[in-house]
Amino acid sequence: MGYRRGCLADLLGDFVVYRGLSPQDPRLPGLLELREELDLGEGLPRKGGTAYARVVVRLLREAQRLRGAELSRVVYVGDTRHNDGRTVASLGELVPVRGFIAAETGEAPIAEVEGPTMYANRWGLIGRFREWLEKEDFPLEAGTAVVVDLDKTAFGARGRNSGPVDAARVAAAERVAESVLGEGFDREKFRRAYHELNTPRYHPFTGDNQDLVVFAALVTASGAYPLARLGEEVSTGKTQSFQEFLIACRKLPRGLVELHREVQEALTRGDPTPFNVFRRLEYEETLARMDFLPDVVPATEVLAAEIVLTAEVWEFAEEAKERGALLFGLTDKPDEASLPPPGSGAPPLHRARMKVLGPP
Ligand SMILES: [Mg+2]
Repeated sequence: MGYRRGCLADLLGDFVVYRGLSPQDPRLPGLLELREELDLGEGLPRKGGTAYARVVVRLLREAQRLRGAELSRVVYVGDTRHNDGRTVASLGELVPVRGFIAAETGEAPIAEVEGPTMYANRWGLIGRFREWLEKEDFPLEAGTAVVVDLDKTAFGARGRNSGPVDAARVAAAERVAESVLGEGFDREKFRRAYHELNTPRYHPFTGDNQDLVVFAALVTASGAYPLARLGEEVSTGKTQSFQEFLIACRKLPRGLVELHREVQEALTRGDPTPFNVFRRLEYEETLARMDFLPDVVPATEVLAAEIVLTAEVWEFAEEAKERGALLFGLTDKPDEASLPPPGSGAPPLHRARMKVLGPP
């Protein structure tokens, strides 16, 4: 028997919004329009914030209007306590909401309700969430919008299938390092630096922004700024912001000078995705990990190497759609890491074919 396959657009159509908040469906208002209408001010609203929630509710209302429906309630499915949990809370200020947030762990299965959200350590516990919605009189019907996070939720389920999502990112980072550092590229040194800079200890410094993590790994792996020195400066508070680090970067190898300028300019503009070359390669590496293995490969191996659609989330969304709910995809994944470069003919991630797979 072969694997089941599908793409997110089968369920969501183009009702998908990546980090830049430009809806993929051209009938929905873009960020420029919303900025004026909602008086959002400068900068890009980020997931979890109140401005972000206002944008989302506005988009959901418009999507509902296109279907001749009202927005009565929102169901949110995600994978991170921090970002997705805060998104549920801020949506809750504007519209009735219930959230399901899961990440698979090896511990005994458990689902706990905290306020409007159910937290679970198995994706399969979404069935329990379904029962809870019934009990709460929170029906899946035309007035309900089901918002699904993409990265590590709809695909690459956190804790079960998130490895290949991370592997795509690391592969992209290494390709950048290889092309920028040329002969000076030391894979092991770069991996060590990337791994270390990705730990929570550096979050105050990088803001957990992968663009900045990769750039700092490049600089330290090039030898221009020893990792030990940066580590010490971050822990003693001598270097507090990424801007300070950028200013302190001297005698960079030739390939890094131009990148350094680009990252600095982007940060000054408040662009949260300053490292475009890296993100474009991340898109390529991500797409390359979708549905490339033949059907004879066992599920455990597929889950370790391929990015697949999360069967439990997929089936929940399918049922919601059958009952008339609006389905909407929402993700903090950068547009550059999710959409093909102009003219390439490759699909955006929500139109890429993947296997639909549950636990092995
Ligand atoms: Mg996610």
